[in-house]
Amino acid sequence: MSALKPGNPALLLCSAACLALLFAAAGDEVRAAESPATNRPMKSPLPSALDSGDFRRARDALVDREVIPAGVKDPAVLAAMRRVPRHLFVPEPLWREAYADHPLPIGLGQTISQPSLVALMTEMLGLTPGSRVLEIGTGSGYQAAVLAEVAGEVYSIEILRPLAETAAVALRRAGYDRVRLRIGDGWQGWPEAAPFDAIIVTCAPEEVPAPLIAQLREGGRLCIPVGPAGATQELRLLVKRADGTLERKASHPVRFVPLTRATP
Ligand code: SAH
Repeated sequence: MSALKPGNPALLLCSAACLALLFAAAGDEVRAAESPATNRPMKSPLPSALDSGDFRRARDALVDREVIPAGVKDPAVLAAMRRVPRHLFVPEPLWREAYADHPLPIGLGQTISQPSLVALMTEMLGLTPGSRVLEIGTGSGYQAAVLAEVAGEVYSIEILRPLAETAAVALRRAGYDRVRLRIGDGWQGWPEAAPFDAIIVTCAPEEVPAPLIAQLREGGRLCIPVGPAGATQELRLLVKRADGTLERKASHPVRFVPLTRATP
């Protein structure tokens, strides 16, 4: 599998069997925890059975050899990449591959994104500890965990129920108890929690969904891959102007799984 870097697009490949359903969601929301408080992760280290020194060293090497050379500079984002145990967000047979800089299959034909791209997209959002951020495409929950390290409140929507449920378990196990998860079509956004300071879309629609623009605050940032399924898309950073239109700040060629509309 080839590496995916900005300006050097590669496939986010799909495969692997469906992960087991670990628990059933109540209604259309899956909570990593009961508390509605802010979204700060545990600051104490994970037990060594879940995060060994080998994994921590592998994360540091990934940041030093891939994430920083990819151009990521924000210290908060780099610290998040050193902290979040990516292996806990992939099936256990893939733990040894979790700190290579490439996507991995997470079931149902979906993938966890390449770490350097997760870091770049997070940096593009310009988050602070007070930010409220919405993610479309929870997938494994890894990007949501990285967001939780740098933002105050994280909301994330996943259309495939088994993935949302597995992500909720992984987020809880890794200590990101307060990420809010919803099962549904992220095209509609999460109107009850709007406006957002930033929105990140990790699946590719053919056009920018209007509800997401509406749910962004003035000056808010939207990071979104736009383009056809199965082809190279354009990763755009868009900033909402006072008149409600979007200013395009940057774009990179990328390849994401498509944003789908129907709940299977
Ligand atoms: N951010 C994820 C990777 C995302 S892969 C991670 O860190 O692991 C893209 C995800 O978008 C897939 O899980 C896919 O099921 C989901 N998706 C596709 N269309 C969607 C939609 N309309 N609403 C919400 N999620 C969607």
